[in-house]
Amino acid sequence: MHLSRFPRVFLAHLPTPLERMDRLSEALGIDLWIKRDDCTGMSTGGNKTRKLEFLFGEALDQGADMVMTQGATQSNHARQTAAFAARLGLKCHVLLEDRTSYNNANYNNNGNVLLDHLHGATTEKFPGGHDMPAEMERAAQKKRDDGHTVYVIPGGGSNPTGALGYVNCALELVCQANNANLKIDRVVHATGSSGTQAGLVTGLCAMNTGIPVLGIGTRAPQPKQEQMVYDLACKTAEKLGCPGVVQREDVMANTDYVGEGYGLPTESGIEAIRMFAELEGILLDPVYSAKGAAGLIDLARKGTFKDERVVFLHTGGSVGLFGYDFAFDHADRWVNL
Ligand SMILES: *Cc1c(COP(=O)(O)O)cnc(C)c1O
Repeated sequence: MHLSRFPRVFLAHLPTPLERMDRLSEALGIDLWIKRDDCTGMSTGGNKTRKLEFLFGEALDQGADMVMTQGATQSNHARQTAAFAARLGLKCHVLLEDRTSYNNANYNNNGNVLLDHLHGATTEKFPGGHDMPAEMERAAQKKRDDGHTVYVIPGGGSNPTGALGYVNCALELVCQANNANLKIDRVVHATGSSGTQAGLVTGLCAMNTGIPVLGIGTRAPQPKQEQMVYDLACKTAEKLGCPGVVQREDVMANTDYVGEGYGLPTESGIEAIRMFAELEGILLDPVYSAKGAAGLIDLARKGTFKDERVVFLHTGGSVGLFGYDFAFDHADRWVNL
């Protein structure tokens, strides 16, 4: 758990606040706290910032002058990677996969895409279902042939290096809870490429906290999601020097809130966005945090978290709202008094 052994750039705004949500707690009948990883900094923040501290640490260590990564059109990971590259003076190229087939102008040019470009990154588009890791290797080789030293970051920054960022988050969260004499019964968050959950679970297990983590799926079906998280958690534990610390049953994902598919807004997600925005002034995003919150809300209403103090890890993503404005009907907010 001695993270200083690993190369890292210190750009995140840490520790992120741990805040009680009074109005949501009352509405949901649980003791709800939010770990504000939407406030990590770097082009509005989000969960990728913690991972990128370690990934860019490694990139600089290897003498990279360029980074490459991939994601969906409205990838938060792409935007935060572009911001890190700008800050550290590296070139950045991003391969974007069209997973939704939206023709919408805001989806394709606003939100995260606008920020990718403002940070100086170049982007390249591919159809949904394309072999993106293979495409990225091809693109990286091309740039290497041009004389660049390219550091390739996997989608979502989810490898053992990136997951160290969430081992660090586990340390930070437990420290905050201990200092505030706050017993945490459960952590809930949106899970996708799996690095966030893998890092958290590894950190919480290595510290023997007994705090369960529930990932709410945003893409893959449950067996695949849990296997991805478990595999990465095992590799992360090995990297940390504590192999075997994570058991298969420590990895829990509920994938009932994905809806039609990745990046496609759901009714329960839209309701979650409205609830968090109206009751607490907190912004979620339709692709990840809203689906995570939809799971939190539904399970709370069903009594799954009865008498529990639940920490919702807010993974960020609100910039995506500006690429998804079409998903919200808000004409009734214009009034004449
Ligand atoms: C990437 C992302 C997630 C999922 O995190 P993973 O580490 O990929 O599982 C959740 N929420 C937001 C806003 C994200 O951008």
